[in-house]
Amino acid sequence: MFETAIAGSLPKPSWLSETEKLWPQWKLAGPELQRAKADATLLWIKEQEDAGLDIVGDGEQSRQHFVHGFLEQVEGIDFEHKVKMGIRNNRYDAMVPQVVAPLRLKGRVHAFEAQLARAHTKKKLKFTLPGPLTIVDTVADCFYGDKQTMAMAFAELLNQEALALQADGVDIIQFDEPAFNVYMQDAADWGVKALEVAARGLTCTTAVHICYGYGIKANSDWKESLGQEWRQYAQVFPALAASSIQQISLECYHSHVPPDLMALLKNKDVMVGVIDVASDVIETPEQVADTIGVAMQYLPRNRIFPCTNCGLAPMSREVAVKKLAALAKGAALARERYAQTGSDA
Ligand code: ZN
Repeated sequence: MFETAIAGSLPKPSWLSETEKLWPQWKLAGPELQRAKADATLLWIKEQEDAGLDIVGDGEQSRQHFVHGFLEQVEGIDFEHKVKMGIRNNRYDAMVPQVVAPLRLKGRVHAFEAQLARAHTKKKLKFTLPGPLTIVDTVADCFYGDKQTMAMAFAELLNQEALALQADGVDIIQFDEPAFNVYMQDAADWGVKALEVAARGLTCTTAVHICYGYGIKANSDWKESLGQEWRQYAQVFPALAASSIQQISLECYHSHVPPDLMALLKNKDVMVGVIDVASDVIETPEQVADTIGVAMQYLPRNRIFPCTNCGLAPMSREVAVKKLAALAKGAALARERYAQTGSDA
């Protein structure tokens, strides 16, 4: 009950890359960089285990950015000539590579870090990949001319890598789709279908992470503009509830998401965001347990997976470590506190 996990990313140590940035520059190159990525991955597996999390991940230590890390291994993408593009409906500008030819994987994308993580933990291992809709919003298209067609092409590549990750021993494959909360109509019309193509044939657990973004200023400003009730999830959850994807995340703590939206996901496992990634204030176990209590009003307790609202990549390492501990301690308190209360939603 209340198995804990993080959304995916964790801060990179200062000896690996720049810190507290979304697109940090590596500080090493070649074999030294590869060694440092491995060391950082091992460090974070240990920190997650020591914190007491039930499900661990590689902390995305081997990729510069959660989308571009995947794109670097895709043929047909020009990384030499990046262009400035407004992403997430022009919320902020990013330097993005361009799709210039038919897409094909150059080979395995994440074998190194997935196999390393698998060899060093006996805990359940979750591995994250960017979702198709979020990918097409984070790359410039000079070839396909249609978002949906390009998303389906990416979905096929994601499926290849996902099946290989499953063979590496990954227990949960999660697709990250923050763009689902920006392009709700596209998400409902074909984004969920593209996800199912990406997850086709998987027998491990499948998940999708949907959020209001990292704790960066552009996102905080955007959230300020969304009013008192954030109902974006309501437009996408029905399509997801009808899909084959098994776990779905939502932001809860410190958000304006109406908690009753969780009732739309009754037959799914729900990764409930109980840790705020836009604040350095460390949650108390009581606050985390309270948020779990709110989720219990709408979901059976065995379907609640306490989680962070989003990735922790742009935070300081010290704060992230404390937030991991708060997550695990809060879930432990909730197990104690709610053990005696009988009724399930
Ligand atoms: Zn997120």
